[in-house]
Amino acid sequence: MVVHVGTSGWSYGHWENVLYPWGAPSRDRLGHYVRRFDTVELNSSFYRWPGPAQFARWRDGLPAGFVMSVKAPRGLTHAKKLYAPERWVDRLAAGWHELRGRRGVLLVQLPPQQIRDDARLDYFLGLLPPWLAVAVEFRREQGKRDVRVEEVPDPRIEYPTDAIVKITSSAICGSDLHLYEVLGPYMKPGDILGHEPMGIVQELGAEVTNLAVGDRVVVPFNISCGHCFMCTVGLQSQCETTQVRKQNKGAALFGFSSMYGSVPGGQRSTCGYRRPSTGRSR
Ligand SMILES: [Zn+2]
Ligand SMILES: [Zn+2]
Repeated sequence: MVVHVGTSGWSYGHWENVLYPWGAPSRDRLGHYVRRFDTVELNSSFYRWPGPAQFARWRDGLPAGFVMSVKAPRGLTHAKKLYAPERWVDRLAAGWHELRGRRGVLLVQLPPQQIRDDARLDYFLGLLPPWLAVAVEFRREQGKRDVRVEEVPDPRIEYPTDAIVKITSSAICGSDLHLYEVLGPYMKPGDILGHEPMGIVQELGAEVTNLAVGDRVVVPFNISCGHCFMCTVGLQSQCETTQVRKQNKGAALFGFSSMYGSVPGGQRSTCGYRRPSTGRSR
């Protein structure tokens, strides 16, 4: 087994007088780097994938025995999340082809929120030529059926119509099971569940007139403004102010994933409430 030791990137201002001499022009930094290390991970390719000519220059400029690993472009890994990889594969292979004897691995770093999808990964890997070695970095920290009790920041009054409620009870509802399982793809690590809490009003924004600090409240899960057309005809669940148009959904819901507006829910000690609907939240 051969072990190569290197760093992510080779050009950093604060490495002056550490790895390169003071005032060394940045174009010379790689030359200094290769005297001390025999591998590197190219990071800038994540932002902009270099053309084949640039790969050829690296190949010709790097000493024998040096291998370069290259981070896959974010267009493929973060924007497309490995969907429709065909248009990228040719570009990756063209650069890789030029790198020849200096090839390390193509580092496919997946976004932190990407859920496991074996079929999609398999399809992508199957398209790559056999001479292109790949390392896949999986970064999702929290997956399906992984609910935890954690410290979260306290809510603050951000708008004059906000209320902050000290939670006294918060149910785990049958519909939370959707988020726990089948609607998992809409959850982001760190999302706070809980759409049906009750508690005591702790702090109010300046424009809240129908609540007082100390009031005990039951909070409905849908978030509605109380003054749009839908709210005034009693259809608060379709509130036009809070509806999640991007997902073709009605009013935003507390603690119910990106499908309903990614609003932190009530399974915590204090909860911020925006624009409580007139009369219904008391
Ligand atoms: Zn419920
Ligand atoms: Zn409304």
